[in-house]
Amino acid sequence: MLEVDHLIKGDLMAPTDASQVSIQLDEDHAPETNGRMPVCRRCGFRTEETSSRHAATDGHQAKAGRWLDSQALVNRVAKARDVLGS
Ligand SMILES: [Zn+2]
Repeated sequence: MLEVDHLIKGDLMAPTDASQVSIQLDEDHAPETNGRMPVCRRCGFRTEETSSRHAATDGHQAKAGRWLDSQALVNRVAKARDVLGS
């Protein structure tokens, strides 16, 4: 019973590992780096040095999740403005 409960909660929760957050950052935008540091200028999180993918660390995942939430809000506001403007 407890095990099932845990599984259901796990499904409903936001991304629980850094790789999942990195994928969401990738979906939001392509990493922009200055070529010297593996850090995205747009969101401020780490990227992989050898590929154009985000690589948020475990310590960053909560912060990255909040960043993605704020971006989602920005997008919703932008869409609302589009609707009002048309
Ligand atoms: Zn980024």
